[in-house]
Amino acid sequence: MNGVGVVLRNPQWLAASVSAYDAPRFDDNGAEVSEATLIDGKAFAAGLREQIAVDVQDLIGATGVVPGLAVVMAGSDPASEIYVRNKIRLTRRAGMNSFEHRLDADVSEATVVDLVGRLNADPAVHGILVQLPMPDHIDTNAVTQTILPEKDVDGLTGFNVAQLATGRDGIVACTPLGCLLLLQDHVGDLAGKHAVIIGRSNLVGRPLAELLLRENCTVTVAHSRTRDLPALTRQADILVAALGRPRYVQGDWVKPGAIVIDVGINRLPTGEDNKTRLVGDVDFDAARRVAGAITPVPGGVGPMTIACLLLNTVSAAKVQLQA
Ligand code: NAP
Repeated sequence: MNGVGVVLRNPQWLAASVSAYDAPRFDDNGAEVSEATLIDGKAFAAGLREQIAVDVQDLIGATGVVPGLAVVMAGSDPASEIYVRNKIRLTRRAGMNSFEHRLDADVSEATVVDLVGRLNADPAVHGILVQLPMPDHIDTNAVTQTILPEKDVDGLTGFNVAQLATGRDGIVACTPLGCLLLLQDHVGDLAGKHAVIIGRSNLVGRPLAELLLRENCTVTVAHSRTRDLPALTRQADILVAALGRPRYVQGDWVKPGAIVIDVGINRLPTGEDNKTRLVGDVDFDAARRVAGAITPVPGGVGPMTIACLLLNTVSAAKVQLQA
């Protein structure tokens, strides 16, 4: 049951996702400024989804069963609405069933737990995703822990977290898995690289640290109490920003030639009406003049998260069907 093992056995998914900026750029004195290669997560994710769709058809051909993903959402957080809509659309496009469960914002925790229990028991559902954030009165961790580990396609149950932390197969959280796939595609063997991850959340920083350790990177995890963060990040061959602070990581925090993975998704007002635009946790314009390669926001890690959710769902279905 897992993302990583399945992916490593399918190197064709590691198709090139890297593209360079086409036009050379110049500084104020007319000297050419070398720029980072753009790691195109959008293109990589599209290729991965195509491969998943082929896998889904193979699985249906072999078993007659269509993999199914259930999404549980409570309330109407606007960002979650967009994510859930995209997840449903792309699940269906990959040939899988999508089951949507929308609950009122004042739903009780017991009702959500009861729904998860029914989805656990439903053989048509192979993956369950509880969309976060849930309303404040709900203990999201308590709800998440009721998902059967083999249907936990977000990799957040204690079982899957422990599997990852002890180097065993399990379902790996989608965003860190997406980061790993982009790094493997761009770098190949990650052994010996110094990876600095800014952020230690259960959703991103911690599982990514475990994944990169598994790949024999030397991993440093930084957080809000880390002293002299720039001195640390300047040592990174691989710098991952997952802190949720718009454009926080400056260009001169980046070691020349480093690979920068920007996980951040922050909405900033454009100044026009109520419009906003997405920016990452890295000052992209400055960092791309120093880094060797960098993921953009949008179009970097974000599309990989949904593709890895589909990947985890089809992998979970295979395990449940023992196909
Ligand atoms: P989170 O739970 O808020 O965790 C943020 C982490 O960053 C914490 O460990 C925090 O340290 C650390 N941090 C905060 N400010 C810092 C600072 N000034 N210096 C150093 N470390 C600092 O966030 P998350 O869920 O991991 O998400 C992080 C970012 O990734 C957000 O922008 C989120 O929107 C984005 N995200 C993107 C995707 C995607 O699909 N691309 C998926 C998930 C999340 P402490 O632990 O000390 O508080």
